[in-house]
Formats: sequence, C-alpha cells, structure tokens
Amino acid sequence: MEKIRKRSGYISWDEYFMGVSKLAAMRSKDPNTQVGACIVSLENKILSMGYNGFPNGVSDDEFPWAREGDEVDTKYPYVTHSEMNAILNYRGGSLEGTKLYVTLFPCNECAKAIIQAGIKTVVYDDDKYDGTPSNVAAKRLFNAAGIRYYRYQATGRKVEIDL
Ligand SMILES: [Zn+2]
Repeated sequence: MEKIRKRSGYISWDEYFMGVSKLAAMRSKDPNTQVGACIVSLENKILSMGYNGFPNGVSDDEFPWAREGDEVDTKYPYVTHSEMNAILNYRGGSLEGTKLYVTLFPCNECAKAIIQAGIKTVVYDDDKYDGTPSNVAAKRLFNAAGIRYYRYQATGRKVEIDL
C-alpha cells in the first residue's frame, strides 16, 4: 500500500505566530499605526494576544487619534500598546520564560513590562523607529536584562483568508 505522507505546504511556527500577530493588528482602530502581539509558551501554545488601542471602556470615537497638538488631545496618553495589552490580557498566571511576537519593535515602556512579566525572548518584524530614544532605551533595557531579541525572518509567503 502506498504510504500517505504529511502535506508539505504548512506554515512554520514563526510564520504562524507572526501571522496571528499581524491578524491581531488588523483589529486596531488607530488610523496610523496598527501593531499586534502574541505571547507563546515554550511548548508553542499561544497564551495571549493584543493590539494597540484605548483601554476598556474608553471610547474609540470620543478619544483623540491625533499625533500632533496639545499632548492631552493626542492619542499618546491614552493608547495601550499591543505588547502591554497582550501581557495584561493574560489571566492564566505566570509568563515566566515565554516568547513574545510583535509586528513592531517594542518601545521602552513596553520593554520594561516585558522584562517584569518574565518574557525572555522577543521576535519582532518592523523596526522603523530604530535609533530613536525610546528604541535605543528599549534595546539597552533588553541587553541589560538578558532578553533575547531577533528579527523575524520574512518568508514572503502570501496567505489569503476568506472571512
Ligand atoms: Zn510600547
């Protein structure tokens, strides 16, 4: 009898986790930046996900999405980043030793939360703010705390999903 072998076109773990991070980013209401993150256990189980947005109960329609102007009238004091949301959304206990996938390199505020949550590895895609003070500080924090971080190796695979 002919042996049936497994299919060959399946996506890799990295594609899977960066893929769900990109899918999470599509939930963001931010007109300029959509970021998604997912936290994965050592056994490759997804523990939590997040995207950038206002905290629960804070209206997406009433609060500002502007990037310029009086600071209290910009989005910056109100938005929770995807990494922070993924950490705070987790209600299952400890995130010690886990891995975080995120579509954009974390800012320094999220870097602090990542370290304190016990996350040990960060896999990022875009690093468009490389060299900015927040980005430099985040990398400095990760280096000091022994957080491993590396850029996702894009495969160029296109995935089409009917929704
Ligand atoms: Zn952040």
